[in-house]
Amino acid sequence: MRRVNKDFNAPPDALQRGFEDKKNDLLKRKSDHQFDGRIYNNAVKQELREIYHNKCAYCESVMSDDAFTIEHYRPKKGSYSYYWLGYEWSNLLPVCEKCNNSKGDRFPVEVPSRVSKNSDKKSRVKAPLLLPNSSELDIDAMKADHPYLLGEKPYLLHPEIDEPKDFLYVKSNGELASQIEKEENKYHYERADQTISLTNLNRQILILNRRKLIENFENLIKTQTVILLKEKDNQHDWDSSIKLAFFGVFGFIENQLKDDQEYTLTAWRTWRDIKETLFKAICKDNQEIEQLLDYALDLYKNSRRVG
Ligand SMILES: [Zn+2]
Repeated sequence: MRRVNKDFNAPPDALQRGFEDKKNDLLKRKSDHQFDGRIYNNAVKQELREIYHNKCAYCESVMSDDAFTIEHYRPKKGSYSYYWLGYEWSNLLPVCEKCNNSKGDRFPVEVPSRVSKNSDKKSRVKAPLLLPNSSELDIDAMKADHPYLLGEKPYLLHPEIDEPKDFLYVKSNGELASQIEKEENKYHYERADQTISLTNLNRQILILNRRKLIENFENLIKTQTVILLKEKDNQHDWDSSIKLAFFGVFGFIENQLKDDQEYTLTAWRTWRDIKETLFKAICKDNQEIEQLLDYALDLYKNSRRVG
């Protein structure tokens, strides 16, 4: 998962028109409203594809046409129906079939479903907020980042509101885990943990793909290290040789952080903690190699700073 920017105030025209058209029926029939699939038409899909570079909002896999689905972050049907958000732009995410099937219409929140009548505690949101003294919808309170909705303290991370890097940790074997200890902040821990289990982010293929990415980085550095050390005695210009050996590899890893690449969270974590995630395994306590890699990384980072 990665953080994505979407302008909640600028829904695609087709979605806006569709919502206006269906609004009365939606408010009258509530969860019995027949959602019109044509409203999520090509224009809406196309815009989601572009914003997300054709990747799943949850697992960051590139999606084929067949695997592409439109997910309702808050479910429009089911035991907790947020029917009034069925055509809401901030509630729509492009999600692969696997993640979507796994999540289904679940949407756990921290607050209880019900609180006693006179309590000032919050409970799960069950109806839209209306404008004061009116039967008109409060459009702002339909946005996923509005306090009215955030007040129910959802567990599932929202890639357009939350920063997944603050919650999710990628282990060297490719598994995802919570970045935060349970004792440190229970709600944050639960958010990471439940997001992983709701969307099944630790399914085998995803673990494998993340691990392959890390192993690929490791192998590239390893290969260059071996070549360089073999020719060490014939080197006249050591710095140039190091640059030649490693800059391409470091550049390749950094390139995997770009929006349109798959599994950028994995690449980001590997690159940020490269000494821990890659160097340690390559050096195996060999100080010469450790110094070489540290030096190569410093050279690279300095060159980036100057450039
Ligand atoms: Zn997915």
